[in-house]
Amino acid sequence: MNETIVAPATGPGEYGIGIIRLSGPAAPALLQTFFHAVRPVGVISPRRLYFGHFCAGEELLDEVLAVSFPAPHSYTGEDCVEFHCHGGGAVMRRLLDELCRAGARLARPGEFTQRAFLNGRLDLSRAEAVRDLIHARSEGARRAALAQLGGSIFHVVHGLRGELADLLALVEAHVDFPEDELGALPHARLHEGARHCSDELRRLIAGYEQGRLIRDGASLLILGRPNVGKSSLLNLLVGEERAIVSTIPGTTRDTIEERIAVAQLPVRIIDSAGIRDSRDPIENAGVTRALQHVASADLILLVYDGSAGFLPEDAEVLARCGAAAILLVRNKADLPQAPAPLPPAHLPEVTLSTRDSSGLPAFHRTIHRHLLGSDGEVSDTALITDLRHKEALCQAVQALDSFRELLHHGAPLEVLACELRSSLDALGEITGETTPDEILDRIFARFCIGK
Ligand code: GDP
Repeated sequence: MNETIVAPATGPGEYGIGIIRLSGPAAPALLQTFFHAVRPVGVISPRRLYFGHFCAGEELLDEVLAVSFPAPHSYTGEDCVEFHCHGGGAVMRRLLDELCRAGARLARPGEFTQRAFLNGRLDLSRAEAVRDLIHARSEGARRAALAQLGGSIFHVVHGLRGELADLLALVEAHVDFPEDELGALPHARLHEGARHCSDELRRLIAGYEQGRLIRDGASLLILGRPNVGKSSLLNLLVGEERAIVSTIPGTTRDTIEERIAVAQLPVRIIDSAGIRDSRDPIENAGVTRALQHVASADLILLVYDGSAGFLPEDAEVLARCGAAAILLVRNKADLPQAPAPLPPAHLPEVTLSTRDSSGLPAFHRTIHRHLLGSDGEVSDTALITDLRHKEALCQAVQALDSFRELLHHGAPLEVLACELRSSLDALGEITGETTPDEILDRIFARFCIGK
């Protein structure tokens, strides 16, 4: 942290403006060295934007805007400076070269946010929200990350840690002082406190499935026998001719993947080879590949031709899906519909026509509801979107469950205290208070440069 770091905060390519960011003790001196305000000013006031020249000695390198954020009122908590220069490769490279030659060093990915975290500007859950906000690929993901950045997870976890710390203090008091001074251990209060905390933790954990889908997206696998309209469905959802549509069975031989948004959810949609027994080895390899996706898909769209009914070949495809979540898609609704055979009644079904797009809004709504739960409403309370957070919460619950069990069986106070401490530590990993350094390094390494 004694070093001054520098990085482009805007992406590569040609843009109107490119921002170079500096953080560390030498930032103010580097501003003095390279920046010359066009209208001479005595001192550069904090947090004000000045127009001027970025010069290396006598040489003018660019016309820029410069702003300084003195410590501690900056993103990192250190002295920070930003140059808003012209956003092209040559300009940015030359300015970065000059700043590095004068003593700054290129920042590692996420190093600005890591410094903000180390300087206590934000807790780890909020630092991770910065990364998630940048990587958000849908409205839902953006909203969840922004709520986390606003402290939604920090406040809940911090509150629960406070409650656990109170319980621990009670237990430890009885370790330190004999019973005749303090009275008996308040079993009921300890039990009730631990139960309340573990209920809250379980509620957070239960939201993870929804959070994961909102942040990372869901994967939908289109399956069905040949010619039912699988490729037509992919093209309709993607909005372009992505897959070849033809009446010749076996046209799609490999899996085709596309990323789309369904309602607020990012979705990876996979079109697959029509499932049938074929003598063509390439087609069979495609079928094997399609079936490999079955286990990992969040939802299988099992397409069948409504004008033909649910044929034995469709039932064979269904049999290959095992326990996966299935939505039947009765396609070709524009044609006269076959009254029989019908699919198993217990499976949910939507009807549509990829030819005239009828049924598409209902199809979107059904998928959204299927993936996000009963009413498809996104929870606006603290939503756990990160597997790391979920695992820490599970550890905390486990320790609390074992605390209650041990309390019930009259275990020694030291053992009880140990379980409460484990639970506290697990929660501390979410906010960063107890996160080991190597995990921190791994988390920040996944950030982008300049953040
Ligand atoms: P896949 O083999 O399951 O991928 O099926 P395709 O998407 O290649 O479609 C097979 C045939 O069915 C093509 O001739 C499509 O034009 C036709 N088709 C697909 N969807 C519909 C639909 O909703 N209505 C009608 N009438 N024909 C469709």
